Amino acid sequence: MLTVDAARALVLETVQPGPVESRPFERARNATLRESIAAGIDSPPFDKSLMDGFAARSEDLDRGYARLRLLERVMAGMVPQREVVPGTAIQIMTGAPIPAGADVVVRVEDSALSPDGEWVELRTKPLSPGTNILRRGTSMHADDVVLTAGAVLHAPQLALLAEIGRTEVPVTRATRVAILSTGDELVPVATTPGPGQIRNSNAPMLHALVEQNAGQVVPLGIAVDRLDALTERVRAGLEADFLLLSGGVSAGELDLVPKVLRDCGVEEIFHKVQMKPGKPLWFGIRRRADREATYVFGLPGNPVSSLVGFELFVVPAMRRFQGQKVCLTPPITARLTQPHLARGDRPTYHPALLEWFPEGPGVTPAPWRGSADLRGTAGANCLIHFPAGDVDYPAGAVLPTFRFSPD
Ligand code: AMP
Ligand code: MG
Repeated sequence: MLTVDAARALVLETVQPGPVESRPFERARNATLRESIAAGIDSPPFDKSLMDGFAARSEDLDRGYARLRLLERVMAGMVPQREVVPGTAIQIMTGAPIPAGADVVVRVEDSALSPDGEWVELRTKPLSPGTNILRRGTSMHADDVVLTAGAVLHAPQLALLAEIGRTEVPVTRATRVAILSTGDELVPVATTPGPGQIRNSNAPMLHALVEQNAGQVVPLGIAVDRLDALTERVRAGLEADFLLLSGGVSAGELDLVPKVLRDCGVEEIFHKVQMKPGKPLWFGIRRRADREATYVFGLPGNPVSSLVGFELFVVPAMRRFQGQKVCLTPPITARLTQPHLARGDRPTYHPALLEWFPEGPGVTPAPWRGSADLRGTAGANCLIHFPAGDVDYPAGAVLPTFRFSPD
């Protein structure tokens, strides 16, 4: 049976970056950039003042005191009309362009205006040229690459695009993810379950996970455990970029998903991974000559198994499809806040709460009763990775944790 690492590597080898489209940047939040972007402008576009104060010549201030004649006032958005010559200064506001001839700005706190407003007295330590001035091009020059392909467009990146006037950006088009829940026992959440039935909790969970990872959900509802019903829904799901099924991938008599997928032309990449929960996970690809492939995940039906499968396999797959650089190393190691008895012949991904303490990250395993226990999982924000084996971990033991996406 494949290890988690080997299975994740296979997912990343299989999934290819999806198609690119040009999108107005206002609608590109959480999208992934697919080409590098050059600034096209210098920023700041002119030498500008970092302070409210007086633009002056440093040589006039070398004794730390000067009485200078005021030439004009320049507010942000204005352009200076005069040149600062020896013995003169220009009153200037934060963000306004530095007048010709000036090489320092003296803070308003270090100044006193004459009653008629014609003169200013400046008292300061000697200032080196450039003090309180932000030079043109300090943060970027026109030909600098300021965003690289693979960057995800969150607030700072969108603000940068706004600054440089890039109103259209090449990004991965929406990732369409079809969600199909399978099982004769399932009823929609609004329905009161009859004898032997349970509500379909996987669909809303997967829906949230997909949207949190910048995907667009194609809901396919519930399919009963019959070949014809499943086949029809699977065919619809294969129109999307990803098809996520839950349930029906174990070894039971009615676990028809692997057969239906194969019959629908989906090539199996792997089935079963050495992990707990979520061992029966199935992954494959439907290749087509005339359009992009569809990637198919058969997630085990137990809700926490589906969640763990999504975090470990679907998240990297979606990121790869979106064109991001995907890093598979567990991002955060944390200390157990309490002792923990780990038991099992497979690596276990145990829901837990990761918190920041003065001495560093600490992680508390959720009181968790296995792969059907959503209640215990709802207090968690990460998974602790316990290697296989029966080990009594003391408080303070350091373990890798996977934050729930998006991290
Ligand atoms: P299966 O993987 O189909 O064998 O299902 C494993 C367990 O998960 C069974 O107890 C199912 O009733 C339960 N299950 C399957 N699908 C769902 C779902 N969509 N929501 C909640 N529980 C489910
Ligand atoms: Mg089932």
